Amino acid sequence: MPGFLPALLTAAALSAPSSASWLHTLELPALPHSEITYASNGYIEVAQVLAKLPGNPDWLLQAQRMVKAIYRARPGLAEVDLSLYKASEYQGSDPAAPLPRFTASVPKSRLEAFVHLSPLNLASYDRAWLYAAKEPAVPALPVKASRGHLIYRGEASSKYVAFTFDDMPHPLYTPLLLDLLRREGVRATFFVIGRNALAYPYFVRDMVAQGNQVGNHSYDHRRFITLSEAGVQAEVLRTNAILQSLTGQPVQLVRPPGGRLDPAISRQLRDLGLDVVFWTDDPGDYLRFRPKVLETRLEVRFKPGAIVLLHDNVPETLVTLPEFFRYVRARGFIPGTLSDLVSGPSAPKP
Ligand SMILES: [Zn+2]
Repeated sequence: MPGFLPALLTAAALSAPSSASWLHTLELPALPHSEITYASNGYIEVAQVLAKLPGNPDWLLQAQRMVKAIYRARPGLAEVDLSLYKASEYQGSDPAAPLPRFTASVPKSRLEAFVHLSPLNLASYDRAWLYAAKEPAVPALPVKASRGHLIYRGEASSKYVAFTFDDMPHPLYTPLLLDLLRREGVRATFFVIGRNALAYPYFVRDMVAQGNQVGNHSYDHRRFITLSEAGVQAEVLRTNAILQSLTGQPVQLVRPPGGRLDPAISRQLRDLGLDVVFWTDDPGDYLRFRPKVLETRLEVRFKPGAIVLLHDNVPETLVTLPEFFRYVRARGFIPGTLSDLVSGPSAPKP
């Protein structure tokens, strides 16, 4: 999310009174130390568990207990996603906070497979992640043949509009967003935070499997202008290595957290061969406007060649997207990825 709020706008003036109508809580006394929330994209319902467990439990066993209890309590769920932390380590979503100890994504169709896993065959389940004491090292500086570009907008003559989502992935909203985009027949560009990709690798694989484009949004969302040259390099290269290992493709795009850059950092990123992506339309979805207000803000900013900036962790964005896609299409444009906008479609539509 950008590091500033527009001066003339206060969140209180226009935002939804609370998140209560989009986000629901499931109270299960049998699962202490766990906050269970669920949300819908209008088609499917997904639940997220945030658990802060005392001691050093058997993470897999705890996760299996939780998933069974949650599906029993709410059988209509399409997916349950878990983030299990050590209670003594949990520090919220601060960029420097410790990572979870265990994460998993359990679609209903995989429930039986998940509850029958043991530590010995955990690796056979491709939607679970167990913390490994060391975070990935910063790889060596790559040799790039060419310098990256600064991308502020697309050509006004393009029939595409780029939809970009920052701060991905999120264990509740990413599956809802991916499901919605699939139903809408839209591929988008996702700017992924490296440490989130590390802890939820399966969501990054899902993005790519669905034909979306993945870019670098730093390792832990630190503002690049607050870092040394070596610090920026570590943020970018570490995230590139994580993304490349998950997607099998080199990373081409970077969007600095908050979009804040100075000329030296801009040059540094381009020298790494990365295209630096800005945006034309930022409706400020993270301010949590009511969907009608968000839709109006998107529509008044809309223009040919647009790069639309949204976030996947905002429920009102999910509610607004189908209506905005309709608006874009009614004007003769096609919602797509950043590459669709700047270089035409690179692959057949799914
Ligand atoms: Zn961000």
